[in-house]
Amino acid sequence: MKTRAAIVPEINKLSIETIELAPPQAGEVLVRIRAAGVCHSDLHMYRGELTTPPPPIVLGHEGAGFVESIGPNVTGVKVGDAVMINWLPACTSCVNCLNGLYTLCQNFIRTAYAGTLPNGSSRLKNSAGDTLKHYLGVATMSDYIVVAEANVLPIPADVPFEVAAIIGCAVATGVGAVINTAQVPTGSSVAVIGCGGIGLSIIQGCLLAGCYPIVAIDVVDNKLDFAQQIGATHTINPATGSLNRALRKIIPNRPDYVFDAVGAATTITQALKIVRPGGAAVIVGLHAAQEQVPIPAGSLVFENKRLLGSLAGSINPRIDLPKLVDLYRAGRLQLDKLITNRYTLDELPTAFEAMENGKIAARGIIMFDN
Ligand SMILES: [Zn+2]
Ligand SMILES: [Zn+2]
Repeated sequence: MKTRAAIVPEINKLSIETIELAPPQAGEVLVRIRAAGVCHSDLHMYRGELTTPPPPIVLGHEGAGFVESIGPNVTGVKVGDAVMINWLPACTSCVNCLNGLYTLCQNFIRTAYAGTLPNGSSRLKNSAGDTLKHYLGVATMSDYIVVAEANVLPIPADVPFEVAAIIGCAVATGVGAVINTAQVPTGSSVAVIGCGGIGLSIIQGCLLAGCYPIVAIDVVDNKLDFAQQIGATHTINPATGSLNRALRKIIPNRPDYVFDAVGAATTITQALKIVRPGGAAVIVGLHAAQEQVPIPAGSLVFENKRLLGSLAGSINPRIDLPKLVDLYRAGRLQLDKLITNRYTLDELPTAFEAMENGKIAARGIIMFDN
């Protein structure tokens, strides 16, 4: 069948084209996408900033929609079900899954990073007949997608598709970093560096964990205002004065946990610097994934500090994603507020531009009217 999709034909090029989508094979489903999140990872892929598979590739890894048809041997979903896309499922039987490292599942992560479906093949071709990759094994920025059954999770009918789309990546990553990776005890003091979609999700995770104070740190004032609306108790703009001094006024003994949602070399070292002795700096963002970060070894040993990495919130997808959906439905996660900018598929270049210029207060979403 034909589908319109956002393609990166080569690094720094973007086009919205009608392409050919082959039907689902055994264990696969065809999903009619209703909403797709615009994540920094998609931007990184387009800009060639991460170790990603070489283009051509169809973008998108956050999404939700309806199951349109199913291939043979699909048992968990049926035609018409509302589903969210989970780009990183867990097999539960590889050595990493057995060690509880579900987001490092060896059976899914390799093909996801290679841009194929879990069986190693692609269902996508452009009009010239060239094979296209599926970004992170799902490629959600398309009217229709074919993914493995493991990549879809049924959602209740009352969850808006735009909300379901961000639960699978931004929200899982942010809330999971607090609850799963850091396992923050109730009452902990925290600081969050970077207040985009991930940072705001971290703040919501800190609210769930009963943290106080929750200090939001960002160089964009609008983002700080927004962080306060979401639940940050204090804000600091380090561009307007000393971060250390401002932080000590709020938390004299320095935060128990510092979350870095940016992941730049500067913010990673900053997170480690501003956390209290014995505290943990939790690195969630991906900005400097290809850079070396200088770490003062003394601060780790003499101050007993911990440096924790968190991939996709260290979640167990089958347990944690439905839990996040339930928390949203119960009003414990304010996810509607996180969706601040809506675009059509054709407006993706505008969405990326807004993202690069810090103009998206929280999260941008592509809405489909297919
Ligand atoms: Zn993402
Ligand atoms: Zn596994």
